[in-house]
Amino acid sequence: MADVDPFHSSGRAHLDKRAHGHYHVESKCQFGQRVKLRGYDTPGTGGYRLCKRCSALMAKREAKSS
Ligand SMILES: [Zn+2]
Repeated sequence: MADVDPFHSSGRAHLDKRAHGHYHVESKCQFGQRVKLRGYDTPGTGGYRLCKRCSALMAKREAKSS
């Protein structure tokens, strides 16, 4: 289960590539945090793939809770 509702970056080139072009679902993801910090977070997946960092964080959290 995701930690936060999916969001992606509506920003452009100056953003980290790992933050842009993916969507985020974990509040602890530093790339997602960067997107939010800059105010570029947009609700939804944007048709992007899940951020790898978010994927790893989610797996970690699920392993802990089971
Ligand atoms: Zn992420």
